[in-house]
Amino acid sequence: MTAVISPVSGQPIADVPASSLEQVDEAIERAHAAFASWRAIAPGDRARLLRRFSQVIDDHVEELAQLEVANAGHTIGNARWEAGNVRDVLAYYSGSPERLFGRQIPVAGGVDMTFQEPIGVVGVIVPWNFPMPIAGWGFAPALAAGCTVVLKPAEVTPLTALRIGELALEAGIPEGVLTVVPGKGSVVGERFVTHPLVRKIVFTGSTEVGERIMAGCAAQIKRVTLELGGKSANIVFADADLERAAATAPYGVFDNAGQDCCARSRILVERSAFDRFMALLEPAVAGVRVEDPSLDTAEMGPLITAAHRETVAAYVPDGAPVAFRGTCPDGPGFWYPPTVLAPVAESDAAYREEIFGPVVVVLPFEDEADAIRMANDSDYGLSGSIWTRDLGRGLRVARGVEAGNLSVNSHSSVRYWTPFGGFKRSGLGRELGPDAPEAFTETKNVFIATD
Ligand code: NAD
Repeated sequence: MTAVISPVSGQPIADVPASSLEQVDEAIERAHAAFASWRAIAPGDRARLLRRFSQVIDDHVEELAQLEVANAGHTIGNARWEAGNVRDVLAYYSGSPERLFGRQIPVAGGVDMTFQEPIGVVGVIVPWNFPMPIAGWGFAPALAAGCTVVLKPAEVTPLTALRIGELALEAGIPEGVLTVVPGKGSVVGERFVTHPLVRKIVFTGSTEVGERIMAGCAAQIKRVTLELGGKSANIVFADADLERAAATAPYGVFDNAGQDCCARSRILVERSAFDRFMALLEPAVAGVRVEDPSLDTAEMGPLITAAHRETVAAYVPDGAPVAFRGTCPDGPGFWYPPTVLAPVAESDAAYREEIFGPVVVVLPFEDEADAIRMANDSDYGLSGSIWTRDLGRGLRVARGVEAGNLSVNSHSSVRYWTPFGGFKRSGLGRELGPDAPEAFTETKNVFIATD
């Protein structure tokens, strides 16, 4: 058993079993056995089951959201969005089974056609920062494609995934089609990678673990999708609506207490607007409401664990160049205030490394070319924002930045109907969007001679 600790109170709230190797193998074998019948369900019937699953999630949005507030310390507003996202992703991919068609390609002497065959058992490995959405982005398109899924939640945030597993059964998804297997990365996650019956791994987490998973998958040429870390830039040009850019910048990085792979944790500001931007940013940061996440007014909650708070705090040692910071509650819980560092050098760890907490660095740049150079001077390439009134420049910079998800005059990264994923060490492959189910299939080509 592993105790689940509330990041708000620091107290245990549940005990969850840590699966043994034998239990993982059993779950994989059950998923493999269920695959034959799940893939054989007529497309329209599979679609109907997914729609029903989406409906059952909708009936439990509030319950799931409250569970996430308790387990992960997410604000209630975010948690409701996250549960709703699982519902919406299921509804969106419930439109896929009837649309997963192949192609008929003209050839001499016969007919040639392609089929999108489901891959088999898919292992989805989820991190703790967005337990519900990230699970859904993996399992919904996989189930739609006809695959079965074994899903491992992060050790510290298993509660919503376990409940979603129960709700799947309640919705009529057959036993073995979606199995939640709680436990350790080194046991459950690794077994997903090494077990030959798992045909694809969908991993979201740190770049370090992602590297190991990719190496493990290589041994079996196992298919793999990786969604890893980020150190994204928020580029603010002098001609931008500076009031709006400054008012929204804190939410582009401090949402979910900065524990967001898309966090815009490097703010780059054109030198001529730097002082004005900082003057506008200070009250915006002070205005972020860091409080009990169950309150409707909360904009930021605590960090996930005491250990993670230590890791974040290490980026702000005594004497660090804190330009200004917001406030946070005292007392129990793993609180850390929104913190702005400036000036910092491009060689500083706070500028280069993913902090995964509410700490942002602000640096000046000289011109458009310099902004692109700085944004790209990172091992990562997940997301980013560009603020300018010159749309030509907005588009040029968006094309120049090596990242998978960019927004101009906005900080949005994720819509379930558009593709999401990273360049460079931020990942491999894409999730979401109209093509996601195909990533859970193999293309088979069949030629029939007619002569
Ligand atoms: P993590 O890599 O420590 O763990 C992620 C998951 O992998 C957990 O379920 C963990 O138990 C499991 N795991 C750990 N070791 C394993 C192993 N050897 N084999 C198989 N599985 C193993 O990451 P985390 O700390 O939970 O999450 C934070 C990281 O996730 C950050 O770097 C963040 O940027 C990244 N992230 C990326 C995205 C994205 O979409 N790109 C989204 C969210 C989070």
